[in-house]
Amino acid sequence: MPGMTTTTALITGANKGIGFETARLLATRDMTVLVGARDQQRGQQAEQALRDAGADAHYVALDVTDERTIEKSAAWIDNEYGKLDILVNNAGIARGDGTGRPSETALRTLREVFEINVFGIVAVTNAMLPLLRRAPAARIVNVSSEVGSITSMTNPDSPMWAMASVPYPASKTALNMVTAMYAKELRDTPVKVNAANPGYCATDLNGNSGFRTPEQGAEISVHLATLDEDGPTGVLWGHFWGVDGSNSIGVLPW
Ligand code: NAP
Repeated sequence: MPGMTTTTALITGANKGIGFETARLLATRDMTVLVGARDQQRGQQAEQALRDAGADAHYVALDVTDERTIEKSAAWIDNEYGKLDILVNNAGIARGDGTGRPSETALRTLREVFEINVFGIVAVTNAMLPLLRRAPAARIVNVSSEVGSITSMTNPDSPMWAMASVPYPASKTALNMVTAMYAKELRDTPVKVNAANPGYCATDLNGNSGFRTPEQGAEISVHLATLDEDGPTGVLWGHFWGVDGSNSIGVLPW
């Protein structure tokens, strides 16, 4: 089958931010990167920027809330490559109402965030799973966040303690469970499924207020996307703030 020897990685929300950097870094590892983006112009611009940097990059029209684009993407990848080696579920949004407090949360906002950050990931993963199972050792990376960790968010000594909001943190908590359950289902297969915490990175998601770069955030996804067979499955891994404000990289508590 044509392309069967190519290592392929699909990154959702790859037109900017951490997703773009993830595509760029995976391409430097001789992979073909499939640039998932919901907007054609933004997707094609990202594809061109990656190609200009020497990457084998292909824009894939993919809105994680639109099942038709998900199905078309899976059919195209099947036709071109016959399998998928890496899926990075990176697309995500953060929204809040009023001052952001739980008591001010509108259900509309909650639904909007869950639609992309949780339901979209299940939809994309289920559509891509037959292709991932055909790869020798597929990796699924769900881009989560430390704010999805109930342990961190309820620890008064944690830097996370200052934040009290529902839509984004609860969506990432749900995503953590989604990750753990896929890892459980796939535990007797070569497929590994992990959640990534990029850390607080300067992107449009947070008005570029993060203290880490998008590239540093992407390195977390790349690590989980390229785990060897001894690597973990079903963990939340990445950057975390210690209770003393220190920064480190490792396995985070759920
Ligand atoms: P970003 O720069 O805002 O990028 C988000 C990406 O997701 C964009 O490409 C966006 O596309 C895409 N997207 C949004 N809705 C989509 C949809 N329905 N279908 C397909 N793509 C969609 O934010 P980022 O910081 O790089 O975020 C990437 C991931 O990292 C997210 O899951 C976020 O929750 C997570 N994260 C970020 C931080 C941080 O500090 N930045 C920390 C922890 C976790 P458009 O350009 O079309 O909107």
